[in-house]
Amino acid sequence: MKANAERVIRELKELAALTSDERGAQRVAWGPIWRKARDWFTEKVRRELNLDTRRDGAANLWVTLEGKSKNALVMGSHIDSVPGGGWLDGVLGVVGGLEVLRRAKEAGGVPPITLHLVDWADEEGARFGRSLTGSAASAGALDAVKELSHLVDRNGVRLPDALRENGISLASMATARAYFDGLNAKAYLELHIEQGPVLEEMKKPVGVVLGTMGVERYNLKFIGQAAHSGAAPIHLRKDAFLAAAEFALACRDISIKYSGKTPKSRVVATCGVVKVEPNFVTAVPGTTEISIDLRALDGKVLQKMLADAKKASEKAAKKHLVTVEWSSLLQISPRPFDETLMKFVRTSVKEVTKSAPELPSGPLHDAAEMAAIVPTAMVFAQSSPGISHTRFEDTPLPALEKSIRAFLLTVDKTVEHLAKQ
Ligand SMILES: [Zn+2]
Repeated sequence: MKANAERVIRELKELAALTSDERGAQRVAWGPIWRKARDWFTEKVRRELNLDTRRDGAANLWVTLEGKSKNALVMGSHIDSVPGGGWLDGVLGVVGGLEVLRRAKEAGGVPPITLHLVDWADEEGARFGRSLTGSAASAGALDAVKELSHLVDRNGVRLPDALRENGISLASMATARAYFDGLNAKAYLELHIEQGPVLEEMKKPVGVVLGTMGVERYNLKFIGQAAHSGAAPIHLRKDAFLAAAEFALACRDISIKYSGKTPKSRVVATCGVVKVEPNFVTAVPGTTEISIDLRALDGKVLQKMLADAKKASEKAAKKHLVTVEWSSLLQISPRPFDETLMKFVRTSVKEVTKSAPELPSGPLHDAAEMAAIVPTAMVFAQSSPGISHTRFEDTPLPALEKSIRAFLLTVDKTVEHLAKQ
């Protein structure tokens, strides 16, 4: 299995060389370098597996190796990247899945169950802002006309036009769910890099993913009164920024209050955007908008965090004689993964690395869409440094190799399990 892992790593380097420049990977969905990367993949599939790739109505790219049983395992991830991305985000899972098919083919004969590999279209949402587009379409969780028809990229190109350039349409996206239903999928597995520093801090090369965290995301507007910085006495001010600042600090306290000691029970709260008005040095801020992004694996905990954040915003508003309005940006429920599949991941990771650390995923993945419709699990490779969406994204080669081996073992156990059904 070491040789299999080495082959995957060689090919990841090959793809990086083919689709990166000095700023990093440039496989942005719907564009020419993304298509070039997919051509590379399609060509490999043709040459080494003697199989054709197929595209569904959402431009997800599929390879199928028919097995003895119609029960099917789907493996997948995404070839697309953010502009200036890393060499592993997404492609690790696609090339890792390709290795599963190659290994099955090399073993001769027909695999016990049918194996599907998918390269999901536009996981990153880097160009138009909608992430998980292809996998959401397959899960039946995308209303393409409502969610995509109005989206425009930085250069003024409309998403429907970019889709047309790639041979699909908003209407064809609606057919992806039926395509998926025709696959008879009984499980979904994804290998991905962690993209954060948790495994690195634990000094563990590979991790068992418990699920993806739920998200509660809002924009808050604190409304006070703009005034002259010299003329307005402190006790008479209605400073909207100070209220927002107290809210931000309170959110940090909320995340500490609800975080346990283990990675599993950690929660996060982030105020990533602040807009102050009138926004000049001699003005007391009259209004301040601030974003809040709360995440937790446990849905009940997430709701408690939200309730506490609401209280904190009202307290801060009262203290600074301002008002506060909340508007919703995004709600996603936590997606815990399947117990049986997680057991296979746990045993496999343990076999390869002697321990099986567990952690939730803070970032969303295509697996989050799949978890809603089919038993799902993920294997994480350590990120070191624990960053992603940059050309500095990396995983030490021994950890990378172990993660691929753990993924292959997980597939073996899943196939054996599904073959008995
Ligand atoms: Zn990714």
